[in-house]
Amino acid sequence: MTSRNSKKTICPSCKSESTLRNSRARNTKERIIKAITWFELYRCKKCGWRGWRTNIVLEQRAIKKIIIYTLLMIIAAFVVYNLLKLVV
Ligand SMILES: [Zn+2]
Repeated sequence: MTSRNSKKTICPSCKSESTLRNSRARNTKERIIKAITWFELYRCKKCGWRGWRTNIVLEQRAIKKIIIYTLLMIIAAFVVYNLLKLVV
């Protein structure tokens, strides 16, 4: 569904290539974001920029699949909701 981006990371601040290094989470909020999302903390060793980047790139096909699954989920939820209404 997802694939790792093999392209070099480019700093969004100074646009240099390969200057981004993984940065440690400083607080609980950052640790939680790291744990539950695909985002990673990065720090640019050249300009000092620090922020979130993701190395996962969604493919067009994957996006279509996600849309289909979401629609199916909504339909399923709607059906279950109506069945529950009939029971109660
Ligand atoms: Zn930079």
